[in-house]
Amino acid sequence: MQVNRFKENMKTLNTGLREIHSLQHWVLPVTIFDALFKSISPFINIYITAKIIDELLGAKDIERFVLLVGLTIGLNFIIHLISTGLDHLRLFLRNIVIQNQDMKMNEKIINMDYEHVENPVTHNLRTKISEAEMMNSGGIIALLKYLGDFAKGLITVITSIVLVAELFKYNNSIGGYIFLALVLVGTIFNLYLKTKADKKMFEYFSGIMDLNRIFTFYFTRAEDYNAGKEIRLYNQKHIYKKEIDSFIQGGSNMFKKIENTNGKYGGIGAFISSLIGGMVYIFIGLRAIGGSISVGSIVQYTGSINQFISGSTLVLTSINNIMNNNQYLQLYIDFLNIEGEKYKGTLPVEKRDDDEYEIEFRNVSFKYPGTDEYVLRNVSIELNIGERLAIVGMNGSGKTTFIKLLCRLYDPDEGEILLNGIDIKKYDYEEYMNLFSIVFQDFKLFSFSLGQNVAASVNYDEMKVESVLEKAGFKERVSTMFKGIQTPLYKDFDEDGVEISGGEAQKIALARALYRDAPIIILDEPTAALDPIAEFEIYSKFNEIVGTKTAFYISHRLSSCRFCDEIAVFHEGRIIQKGTHEALLKNEEGKYYELWHSQAVYYNDVESA
Ligand code: ADP
Repeated sequence: MQVNRFKENMKTLNTGLREIHSLQHWVLPVTIFDALFKSISPFINIYITAKIIDELLGAKDIERFVLLVGLTIGLNFIIHLISTGLDHLRLFLRNIVIQNQDMKMNEKIINMDYEHVENPVTHNLRTKISEAEMMNSGGIIALLKYLGDFAKGLITVITSIVLVAELFKYNNSIGGYIFLALVLVGTIFNLYLKTKADKKMFEYFSGIMDLNRIFTFYFTRAEDYNAGKEIRLYNQKHIYKKEIDSFIQGGSNMFKKIENTNGKYGGIGAFISSLIGGMVYIFIGLRAIGGSISVGSIVQYTGSINQFISGSTLVLTSINNIMNNNQYLQLYIDFLNIEGEKYKGTLPVEKRDDDEYEIEFRNVSFKYPGTDEYVLRNVSIELNIGERLAIVGMNGSGKTTFIKLLCRLYDPDEGEILLNGIDIKKYDYEEYMNLFSIVFQDFKLFSFSLGQNVAASVNYDEMKVESVLEKAGFKERVSTMFKGIQTPLYKDFDEDGVEISGGEAQKIALARALYRDAPIIILDEPTAALDPIAEFEIYSKFNEIVGTKTAFYISHRLSSCRFCDEIAVFHEGRIIQKGTHEALLKNEEGKYYELWHSQAVYYNDVESA
């Protein structure tokens, strides 16, 4: 069991090291080199100081004395310079690692099968990794730090052993060995205490991470002015206060425990260290009095033994930290190992000025990964160039899933989807995606300017932005905005930002799809958040809005689909009816007839408007 755990730990560590190396080739050697300089420099002072003292008490050769002092100053200066330079370089490379890691994770998400993007497990993993990195609990960056500590500790231990070895080379009495054994036992006991304390600390800090997560949730919510409405309206203040109070209570209990542990173990540790220190001084002092070592050597040996104690503590702490860090490292490795990059074809999509793209679903069946139920069953439909297909049906009937398959967010389990007669999987993914302008139900707008939102880019063609906004029925609203299309949306970055209603946001999202000017336009419930008048305004202009483009129009409001060339009625994952509005209404037994009459009551007023 233990052996397996050790093996696993080593494997994680090895992957972590490779990962650091792949993120930045130089960061590991520079970290080790930096550790080397940092750990060597105290020894240089210890060593030369010993020599200076011996010179002062011995031969008193002024020239040699000046040389030694000059050497101390010169070496210190050079080491300081190199050390500072290395430190800067190390931090610079570390920041590159952070950036590259971020980029790698984002790229991973972008290239991941949408199935994993939608999967909450992926989302949780991503959040945990970011939280651990942010709170310095662990991960790649933490590993880099602990490796630096380990190298520093190890070099310190080795150098101190080399410098102290002399003491035993010429003074190998029984007393010397007893002394050595006592120092070792004391040090090992101290290390044991430290390991125990570290373990406890790690547990407490893991607890703090959970508390921090709750803290961040409540505090960001409280500051979020959008959530502010709900907090006030539903009088959630008390829930907030209660949660925050319990957080503070939990936090202070945790800190009390940390203080207690620190005090207890720190106290015992300090006592043992002083005991060892005392022993070292007595032993070495006696040697000096006995005349077997010089006064300068007292400085060298005591300094080196103290360095040995602190170095070995650092080695052990860093090993503990590296091992504990593995659980965070594993999160990152698991994230990178999420498999299932989408199969991406290479076939270029034929560029056609006439926008002549035909789409066909041939016997397509699909179930979401990890579920047993088919959400689409034997769906077959053809859409010819320039046609408008309305997809209607009750909630959950499979309309959005149909679109997700069309956009290759998922691939069908059975059947195929063809573009101009060729399976869409064979096309170059990006070129294929460029065929579509989509407005999803759960579209997102960002806290940039209106124009940037429409163009989905920093720089944009103002005339075009204005024209698509007009098409989407947003022109009048723009004229009331203080900076026109340069007006920032929302108040996140700009206190002059404007708040927009759900309906307005939907019009902007529609304009964004139009700006993209792709040959196929997909509108998923494009008017759901619009009031009936605005909805009527949009669908009566729909022909003008989509022009010659092929369009998919998903809606559960049948009244907004009447103008489409064909309407497909989805029910429980199947297309159960197809035809024009008029033809479908003639079938009084059909689902369309039923849906139409159940909804018509709400829209009679609008239609006669
Ligand atoms: P519609 O757009 O017609 O409202 P959807 O295509 O969104 O319907 O959903 C069809 C069915 O698929 C529903 O039963 C829904 O619960 C299920 N579904 C949608 N998304 C997922 C998903 N990511 N994982 C599992 N099931 C899903």
